[in-house]
Amino acid sequence: MILMIRAVYSGLCASAAALLGVGLATPHFNRLARRAASFLFPREVAPSQDTLADRRRRHDMVREQLIARGVTNPHVLRAMARVPRHLFLSDAQRLEAYSDNALSTGERQTISQPLIVAVMTDSLDVHINHRVLEIGTGTGYQTAILAMLADHVYTIERFASLSNEAHARLAALGLHNVDYRVGDGSQGWPEHACFDRIMVTAAAPGVPEPLLKQLAERGVLVIPTGDRASQMLKRISYEGGRVYEKDVLACRFVPLIGSHGW
Ligand code: SAH
Repeated sequence: MILMIRAVYSGLCASAAALLGVGLATPHFNRLARRAASFLFPREVAPSQDTLADRRRRHDMVREQLIARGVTNPHVLRAMARVPRHLFLSDAQRLEAYSDNALSTGERQTISQPLIVAVMTDSLDVHINHRVLEIGTGTGYQTAILAMLADHVYTIERFASLSNEAHARLAALGLHNVDYRVGDGSQGWPEHACFDRIMVTAAAPGVPEPLLKQLAERGVLVIPTGDRASQMLKRISYEGGRVYEKDVLACRFVPLIGSHGW
């Protein structure tokens, strides 16, 4: 009996300690706190920058383009409902930002259609404790979605102008768990390998060998491969020394230019 009372008592103490925040300074708690903070970040955006009309368009995008077409992952839907996509485009593109299309951006590159962003992110299956490598920062929109879901994102872009603009946008949104690099991402980022997840947002002729090497055990890589005109989005997973490959969907991306690209 006394033993039972003791067991119940120590259980209550543990719950009280958790409630009071005792012993919460763990890496896991820090990650949760960071995620909670990043979910609140739109508060940092001035109301004039993210108006009610922008929010309405964004929620319509999530409902009509994502949920209606079968995207169910709540983390992906929530992140896409939060990140103000129009802030990653020029003022002239504000109305178009939530349309069902890829759009042209700086340096003759493109921001992917919302559905493609959702499908790629969903296939990557990102967890809060993951270190993610992204190749092709572009506007930083996909980077922002990944930064909301992962512990840390390493992103590489070949154009310095795009990388700097993306960095400024994410910083303004309060997303600080990202490292930026300018260079050829087809070689990966060996100094920070291995990565739990790797996403390539430019089309390659095949899977770059350095990226496969930098994938952690039970890691996942999503990448569009094919010819320059059209590609197949592939989901590659690595487990027990074996590589598994799955086709996700047909797509069309700008080319990955580099030593392991075009
Ligand atoms: N995900 C981006 C869109 C990416 S478009 C967004 O959300 O806006 C593809 C990007 O890949 C372009 O910005 C292009 O400059 C970049 N890119 C192409 N080859 C690259 C390489 N070898 N290394 C890094 N970036 C590359």
